[in-house]
Amino acid sequence: MVGTGTLLVTGGAGYIGSHTVKYLLGQGEKIVVLDNLVFGHRDALPLDKVTFVHGDMSDAALMDQLLADHQPEAVLHFAAFAYVGESVTDPLKYYRNNLAAPLVLLEAMQRHGCKRFIFSSTCATYGNPVKVPMDEEHPQSPVNPYGASKWMLERVLKDCDHAWGLKSVFLRYFNASGCDPAGEIGEDHDPETHLIPRILMAATGEISEITVFGTDYPTPDGTCIRDYIHVNDLASAHKLALDYLRKGGETTPVNLGTGRGFSVNEIIKTAEAVTGKTIPVSYGPRRAGDPPELICQPAKAKEVLGWEALHKDPREHIESAWKWMTGPRQGRYAD
Ligand code: UDP
Repeated sequence: MVGTGTLLVTGGAGYIGSHTVKYLLGQGEKIVVLDNLVFGHRDALPLDKVTFVHGDMSDAALMDQLLADHQPEAVLHFAAFAYVGESVTDPLKYYRNNLAAPLVLLEAMQRHGCKRFIFSSTCATYGNPVKVPMDEEHPQSPVNPYGASKWMLERVLKDCDHAWGLKSVFLRYFNASGCDPAGEIGEDHDPETHLIPRILMAATGEISEITVFGTDYPTPDGTCIRDYIHVNDLASAHKLALDYLRKGGETTPVNLGTGRGFSVNEIIKTAEAVTGKTIPVSYGPRRAGDPPELICQPAKAKEVLGWEALHKDPREHIESAWKWMTGPRQGRYAD
């Protein structure tokens, strides 16, 4: 289903946002991107194909202007800070950016009658797993301010549905990874903390080694198990969530993952096979707040959205990330 209206994409210049923008443009959608470029990159956007607004969601006058000028039929909300460790040491930064700032956007949406919202939520809203794989009924008990900020916004969105009919899909991502297989856009965080890019940085020599955080977990090889979901699979889920709301779908949470888990050591071995390099590894203590195992139960995404991950093998994620990292841009944007 191609929509008739404009989509407002917050954080569209970031990692998951930019891949989704590329995918939605390919599906014939019309897009306005709002990004403050704190973590996003102007170069991640095809500026000839989208309307780009450099600004911040907390700017009430700008939000009013944006909604008035473009009358978006839906908002896809990616803009957020996502460093779990930093959220523990500076919680107010996370509550201001991930919770308070979107309230300004939501107020403008209410004033202008925009009633569809696709929210980049996270499995971090669940906290420590009480059962694996995790479905949407899993208790939500976030263990850090990042997860809590996302969980609280889910609650706000439910209340907005009750009060003024805002319909939302909370897409709870597991571990986003991989890059555009064409190598045009990719993952460029500063600082980079994620496992796969750091492994590849160790492979190129950009960092001296990858440190494995914890080898004494109750898992077969002692290292943490995660469900790695390709960024392009996340992108296609956003389009399906949008079509679900266009067809009158109710507010609902949907997990996005493959249903398969891989350990840190397995990911390192696969990266060695992809790159043909021996990756220097050191073994360190556990990282605070890391549960041993996070695996998604993706059945609801199939049932409600008709979505299924296409890139289930992390080898594909690593191959596309390696292509980006060793490609013409060497894995970095100029702007
Ligand atoms: N990890 C690691 N070394 C690193 C970065 C991550 O061992 O330099 C581990 C981390 O403990 C977790 C997994 O890799 O078990 C995925 O971490 P990442 O930061 O990529 O994603 P998160 O699970 O925090 O969203």
